[in-house]
Amino acid sequence: MDLNLKGKTALITGSSRGIGKKIAEALAKEGANIVITATNIEKASSVAEELKKEYNIETLALKHDVKSSESCKEVVDKTVEKFKSIDILVNNAGIARDMLVIQMDDNNWNEVISTNLSGAFYTSREAARYMLKARRGKIINISSVIGKMGNAGQTNYAAAKAGIIGITKAMAKEFAARKICVNAIAPGFIQTDMTGVLPEDTVKNIMNITPIKRLGNAEDVANLAVFLASDLSDYITGEVIAVDGGMSM
Ligand code: NAP
Repeated sequence: MDLNLKGKTALITGSSRGIGKKIAEALAKEGANIVITATNIEKASSVAEELKKEYNIETLALKHDVKSSESCKEVVDKTVEKFKSIDILVNNAGIARDMLVIQMDDNNWNEVISTNLSGAFYTSREAARYMLKARRGKIINISSVIGKMGNAGQTNYAAAKAGIIGITKAMAKEFAARKICVNAIAPGFIQTDMTGVLPEDTVKNIMNITPIKRLGNAEDVANLAVFLASDLSDYITGEVIAVDGGMSM
């Protein structure tokens, strides 16, 4: 089975740490050239340097604010300028601003919607301009079980992640004739900085509703991302695949 990732160009948004970094590492291990983005360029550069040395691939680190359509355009254009193509886009950058609805001000609503949803739209739109011409591409959107199930205290996050499922299916239909596959991964609770702030009781409750009795790790998500980025998934599009230990089944 050939994943056929060697020499392909993969742009992973928000890849300076957590799930994005693990996906970048897993794709680098398969020989893909990697673009690391984050708002913190120092951290992005250090990951890009690390991967270049470890896997003997080409990398690029770019400062990126997914909330800005100009920044998304610049990142995609610079990727193509360096690598002459963009084969794989992983829309991973995301934030959480959890609070009850009546405490959620406009800013907390808008920050999460623009980072987690608009960012994926802007970056996909720019990448699609190149992928449509090339008549190939893989777009992988990181949604969440919360987008499927909802969760008290996460109305902004649930809306954005449900929106991700919508754009995945709409773009999958729009791009299918040009051999561009668009799929979403819906992780459960994965151990990263984002979930590191959760109180012990919350973590216990999560374990209780997870049939496979552990939290996920970033590799669990990265393994599926590699498959969806590879030629092995060429007949799969518009799907939302959970990586959640059975939580949302
Ligand atoms: P994380 O550890 O907090 O990492 C988030 C990454 O996104 C960082 O590299 C961060 O770098 C970058 N980022 C944040 N804001 C950005 C912006 N405006 N523009 C560009 N990059 C930005 O989060 P994670 O847990 O790995 O989550 C990654 C994705 O998985 C998110 O979409 C999240 O919603 C989703 N997810 C996570 C879980 C979980 O349990 N952890 C579950 C389901 C879904 P800078 O801060 O330097 O910008």
